[in-house]
Amino acid sequence: MAEAPPPTLRLRLDEAALDANWRALDAMSGRARAGAAVKAGCYGLGVERCLPVLRKAGCRDFFVAHWSEVEAVLAHVPSAQVSVLHGVIDAAQASYAHATGVRPVIDSLHQARVWTESGGGRCDLMIDTGINRLGIAPDEIADPLIQSLDIEVLMSHLACADEDSAMNARQLAAFRAAIPLVAHREASLANSAGIALGRDYHGDLTRPGLALYGGVPRPEFAETIRQVAYPEAALLQVRDVPAGASVGYNATFTAPAPMRVGVVSLGYADGILRSWAGAHFAHGDRRLPILGKVSMDMIVIDLAQSPDLAAGDWVSLPYHLPNAARQTALSQYELLTVLGDRFG
Ligand SMILES: *Cc1c(COP(=O)(O)O)cnc(C)c1O
Repeated sequence: MAEAPPPTLRLRLDEAALDANWRALDAMSGRARAGAAVKAGCYGLGVERCLPVLRKAGCRDFFVAHWSEVEAVLAHVPSAQVSVLHGVIDAAQASYAHATGVRPVIDSLHQARVWTESGGGRCDLMIDTGINRLGIAPDEIADPLIQSLDIEVLMSHLACADEDSAMNARQLAAFRAAIPLVAHREASLANSAGIALGRDYHGDLTRPGLALYGGVPRPEFAETIRQVAYPEAALLQVRDVPAGASVGYNATFTAPAPMRVGVVSLGYADGILRSWAGAHFAHGDRRLPILGKVSMDMIVIDLAQSPDLAAGDWVSLPYHLPNAARQTALSQYELLTVLGDRFG
């Protein structure tokens, strides 16, 4: 079959920023080293593009959520550097873990039993210190099933690291109390935001995700963390809309005067959700407001500030994550992971 022409939307990645973000988080992790959460396809930005950058920067600890995510990561890094956060819930997952050499993060007594009965081997262990999501309770640590595990990384996960909450210190205390109770090689508590809570939270290994990809979960990161993802799209058409005519579904925008508008090749199927209504695109330093509702594959913009733009010209969607989160009421995590797979 003929090769398809290039897409009319692209996700430009600033690889130098990704590299700099990992290095900055590694430096902020003090005596600990930084790993990388690369689940959900590097938070939507693509394993193919991000993994080589992270590896070259010096990262050697990678965390995915699902077993289905392992293969893509193993194309870039050795299996001993990969952990699966969801662990092993049945023999099929345990057998895949053994076949690939990737470590499961054991998240419950049930998982410890599944892992041990299938032959066991190196694993990580998640202790629940208050998030009540995954992980064994501190009083389960003494269980022989846990004591007999071969644990590489003992970890827990913070619920409120992006806030100045008393919960952080409580979770730290619970984690520290667990550390002497079971043999392990390394300890890991902090996600991106947790790195900014100071060296008590660093342990041996930190697990940033969001901030690698340009997220700013706490003000301490605002000066250091750089934007990584830049969505851009071509204009499919420009048109003149007469005064009094409406634009888009449900006719929510009516032109107050004759307008020149552009139809951008980007929509909610690409992750640019309807909560972007009221925001603007940009062409250089020109602001091009969004008119009416976001469609599945298209967004109409006001070209008053750039009347010379024509079909095929490219515009960008400002995607500085803290600003975009305020604009759309989506979280910075959602803004990254929602990005679709039609981007070139
Ligand atoms: C996703 C995840 C991380 C990364 O968190 P960020 O807030 O994105 O830095 C770290 N640890 C665990 C267990 C996670 O699930």
